[in-house]
Amino acid sequence: MEYISTRDKSVKVSAATAIANGISNDGGLFVPDDFPKLNEKDFEILCNLSYIDKAEYILKLFLNDFTIDEIKYCVNGAYSGSFDDDKPAPLKAIGDNINILELWHGPTCAFKDLALQLLPFLLTTSAKKVSSGKKTVILVATSGDTGKAALEGFKDVKDTEIIVFYPSEGVSPMQKLQMDSQKGENVHVCAIKGNFDDAQSAVKKIFTDNAVKEKLKNNNMEFSSANSINWGRLAPQIIYYISAYCDLLKEKADLSKGFNVTVPTGNFGNILAAFYAKKMGVPINKLICASNSNNVLTDFIKTGIYDRNRKFYTTISPSMDILISSNLERMLFYLCGNDDNYVVSLQKQLSENGRFEIKSEVKERLQELFYGGFCDDTETLNTIKDTFDNYNYLCDTHTAVAVNVYGKYLKETGDNRPVVIASTASPYKFAKSVLSAVSDKTSDSEFETVRLLSTVTDTVIPKPIAELENAKVRFNTVVNKEDMYKAVFDSLGI
Ligand SMILES: *Cc1c(COP(=O)(O)O)cnc(C)c1O
Repeated sequence: MEYISTRDKSVKVSAATAIANGISNDGGLFVPDDFPKLNEKDFEILCNLSYIDKAEYILKLFLNDFTIDEIKYCVNGAYSGSFDDDKPAPLKAIGDNINILELWHGPTCAFKDLALQLLPFLLTTSAKKVSSGKKTVILVATSGDTGKAALEGFKDVKDTEIIVFYPSEGVSPMQKLQMDSQKGENVHVCAIKGNFDDAQSAVKKIFTDNAVKEKLKNNNMEFSSANSINWGRLAPQIIYYISAYCDLLKEKADLSKGFNVTVPTGNFGNILAAFYAKKMGVPINKLICASNSNNVLTDFIKTGIYDRNRKFYTTISPSMDILISSNLERMLFYLCGNDDNYVVSLQKQLSENGRFEIKSEVKERLQELFYGGFCDDTETLNTIKDTFDNYNYLCDTHTAVAVNVYGKYLKETGDNRPVVIASTASPYKFAKSVLSAVSDKTSDSEFETVRLLSTVTDTVIPKPIAELENAKVRFNTVVNKEDMYKAVFDSLGI
């Protein structure tokens, strides 16, 4: 298997190059030129393996230039000891064919851990193969979840340094504390005066600045990205959909007509991984794409028109407040039959006019695979309450969007196949909103809110959140965005 660029399919690289480079030089994203197919025998074997062994089995199909020992090293480093009970993705049945795939049992209590615990190992192993011994420098601009998950993943990983910038006024107090108290010898955290877009554009500028790259090279270092367009973040996400299928088989769910998957979506990475699992042979029927009020994907699936020229909403499910879903490019490439020129023309329209419309046969294929729906903040809070009242299950604000949209799908279609709903964050990460949905009690203190939520709902506070209360703040620099270059050099000591 090789990897080709969505904007020029004559570009063919190995897995290690795709992961080390992150993005193709033509601006395209790397996709496998062919997807491995799993047959009945494969699933029989897979379903008897632990999560770590499943990960090894699946990754070796994708990482063509990794040795078995390298893959073992990567999956063990990522998944042993860093998730509750060593179960990274437990499936919980909550009622009539409804199953919640809990993806938040890792060190930062959000699903990004599943990929970002593994990526550092994939990246350093890849870098060794393609760029002989240089130190990898990861730059991240974050609005919250990604920064912390990347810090936890890269902390003390040999031959890497990680620098995270976040907008000083743009993250929640809990997210800020999570990052400012980060442990590790190779981690650097810096708040900037400005918003997320300021942080993001400055990081992009530094990342592509030739003088900076030269300076790094002279110090035997090079930049890489932990961004969700890296294939090394997507591949790990396929594993948990296969694991969920195995769990459904174990529960003897009626899978004669397959099952549906619902995903709370932002950048389209998580739901794309579910589609890839389907392509590999997991009997997924419909992919239900759930959005909040930033419903650009709902409209796209319904009309074939992608239009980001619209109001941007700041919602209580902030990790889905996105108007450009970067991983959609990979889906478009597949839907148009790997027509790279067509993808280039769509992306050009998107960057010039903020919109594009796909042709009818592509739209038909899209609608065959996906259902799109959305809900606003009020519906999200009501869904948290209803799910708690009806099923005694407490979900976070992002998961609630998925539960709500699944309800709309069920009502509209009557399709009651078993469903797997991806649960992307612990309710304790968004304690204030979640508490307000299930109780009148409130507190101004972040940790008092967490305790109230625990008492009111009789659920357990995850350890990483409880431990934060006494965590020592290590980072407290706030810089102007003009000074981010200097912050990078100071962090690296160059
Ligand atoms: C990142 C994130 C999402 C969105 O996932 P995508 O792969 O970008 O679609 C949803 N929920 C939570 C909690 C997240 O952190």
